[in-house]
Amino acid sequence: MSKRTMGIHHITAMVNYPQRNIDFYAGVLGLRLIKKTINFERPEVYHLYFGNESGEPGTVITFFPWEKQLKGRIGTGQVGATSYVIPKNSIEFWENRLEKFGVRFIQSVRFGEKYLIFQDPDGLEIELVERIDGPINNWRFGGIQPEFAIKGFGGAILLSAEPDKSANVLEDVLGLECLGKEDGFHRFKSEAQLGNLIDMKLTPSVRGLKGAGTVHHIAWRAKDEEDLHKWRTLLLSKGYKPTEILDRNYFKALYFKEEGGILFEIATDPPGFTVDEPLNELGQKLMLPSWLESKRDELENTLPTVKVQVLDADN
Ligand code: ZN
Repeated sequence: MSKRTMGIHHITAMVNYPQRNIDFYAGVLGLRLIKKTINFERPEVYHLYFGNESGEPGTVITFFPWEKQLKGRIGTGQVGATSYVIPKNSIEFWENRLEKFGVRFIQSVRFGEKYLIFQDPDGLEIELVERIDGPINNWRFGGIQPEFAIKGFGGAILLSAEPDKSANVLEDVLGLECLGKEDGFHRFKSEAQLGNLIDMKLTPSVRGLKGAGTVHHIAWRAKDEEDLHKWRTLLLSKGYKPTEILDRNYFKALYFKEEGGILFEIATDPPGFTVDEPLNELGQKLMLPSWLESKRDELENTLPTVKVQVLDADN
């Protein structure tokens, strides 16, 4: 049995401060805060989701901002960089915008594409690359018009402890197509228009350490719950040890470790982020799963107050 994922569903990372996180991803990058909820396993910590206007799979980055979290180190067994697609002819806009907000960036070329590379305030590596693929993001925020807005993920860089074995996972398990090797990277492609180009670094990296400023896991798309069960069967048949299927409210999911040490998740497209609030109100209210609703007052008093705000440099 062979299966193919459409591409990246979401990427989840750890950071220290929720307001600083919101100010960067919403205020500087112009993504929409599409969900403000809590870590289901640790309700005193926020779980913040940012994506395009409607939070489509392939556009969503999520964070657990926790002040006491020790700093991690980006390295093997992790996602090394998160790449975002910007529309064609918008790279100059982004260079100016990053300068305006004091974000230092460098330029680099991979597979013939020019990338702007910079770090978020916690040290996570972010890249912007121009592509025609993917629908325009109609979310308007601060000084960003849809003609310049980030459309969603272009892909990600994986830092595997075993690049050859991880390549097998991408090809033989997740069904990605190998596009070849160039500039020290092995590139893979999936079918979606966004979140579809994965670059595995071939040169060695330091060993990654979990903590603030590192990616926790990368999730791949499953069509629905029935499809997720098929993924689980496939993983078991290939000798992996996937978790049971878990209810993440906005999707169902399972997790497994691939041989290169990176934590992979497979998550369903449905039901998505409008399951508990309407599209035009996404991200405004603290959303809790039903089993924590009785603790709402307590949680709202414990969690720091945060807001999406237009930053001074944009006024
Ligand atoms: Zn996840």
